[in-house]
Amino acid sequence: MKIIDVCQKLSEEIPAGQIYMNEPMNKHTSFKVGGNADIFVKTKNIDELKHVIKIAKKTNNRITIIGNGSNVLVKDKGIRGIVVNIDFENIKFEDGENGEVFVTVGAGISLALLSQELLKRGISGFEFASGIPGTIGGAVKMNAGAYGSEMKDIVVSTKCLDLKRYNMLTEKTYIDDIELEEIIKRSDEPEIVELTNEKQEFSYRESVFFNKRYVILETKLKLEYGNVEDIKLKIEEFSKSRKENQPSFPSAGSTFKRGDNYITAKLIDECGLKGKKIGGAMVSEKHAGFIVNTGEATAQDIIDLINYVKNEVLEKKGKVINLEIEIIGE
Ligand SMILES: Cc1cc2nc3c(=O)[nH]c(=O)nc-3n(C[C@H](O)[C@H](O)[C@H](O)COP(=O)(O)OP(=O)(O)OC[C@H]3O[C@@H](n4cnc5c(N)ncnc54)[C@H](O)[C@@H]3O)c2cc1C
Repeated sequence: MKIIDVCQKLSEEIPAGQIYMNEPMNKHTSFKVGGNADIFVKTKNIDELKHVIKIAKKTNNRITIIGNGSNVLVKDKGIRGIVVNIDFENIKFEDGENGEVFVTVGAGISLALLSQELLKRGISGFEFASGIPGTIGGAVKMNAGAYGSEMKDIVVSTKCLDLKRYNMLTEKTYIDDIELEEIIKRSDEPEIVELTNEKQEFSYRESVFFNKRYVILETKLKLEYGNVEDIKLKIEEFSKSRKENQPSFPSAGSTFKRGDNYITAKLIDECGLKGKKIGGAMVSEKHAGFIVNTGEATAQDIIDLINYVKNEVLEKKGKVINLEIEIIGE
């Protein structure tokens, strides 16, 4: 089926203004590179998401989920099928005991916006995430963290749609990896599942969401009431530290994960790679852990530089360094 016909079907239940054909992914990623997505669709609620999933399945299109695009590198030929942006911005507050407060947030809300909402209400415990440029969905999947805290410290539970049981094609997973048992249990509708913190199997920049076909819908966080001025000060302090230590060029944050017993950025620096350029991609002169787009980079420039850095660190330091960012598309 032609892209335009798939868009037509999507528009039966989703406002046309949320559906884009041949959409450049450089508009939706913090690296500001990447080719076109065949279809890019914003979903504002679960009904819209379910409709996209149903149409994608019927038309045999693969789906790729994206939040703010701040941890992904989209390749230059773009993404085939449907890119689904989760834009759910619901937020609910429930008081617990002893100053605790439970905050249930839609997966599309940005961490910056959420931290401002929490600040207004004097709710503490989320300051560490205020400067991370992602959404709740992306942050839960990545177990995003900074300044000694991670999402795993505050997530109580997460609601998601299970696409595996629905036998759905997604970017990284294929029909033939579904076990027989799963096929028998396959349902007609994608099911909603709620995972406890433990079931999300969080560890450093890892979670269960790397191995399962779940779309994160909303997450319940456990925070506590605090002093507005103290919260504000902490947010400002973290923001100042980011400005001082992180590059202003487009990037996806730290390109590589830290090692078990070494700091990857330090190894890269010791290899003399700060300022190393391939095309428009450069190892940041300010922070060796960041590969940046100096303006004209292609995704291939960034990938070539990643490989160059990996080889240099292996040769000179004997360490295999692993990516924190995710490379998607073709
Ligand atoms: C300048 C800069 C600074 C950064 N600093 C930090 C930092 O301090 N700490 C840190 O941990 N990270 C940092 N990052 C990386 C990034 O911001 C985080 O990983 C963030 O959590 C990604 O969220 P996102 O919404 O942008 O996810 P995306 O990049 O859109 O997606 C990331 C992954 O999550 C998946 N995903 C997104 N939403 C959903 C959903 N609803 N359901 C299922 N899967 C979903 C995507 O498919 C993809 O696999 C930084 C990035 C930049 C550009």
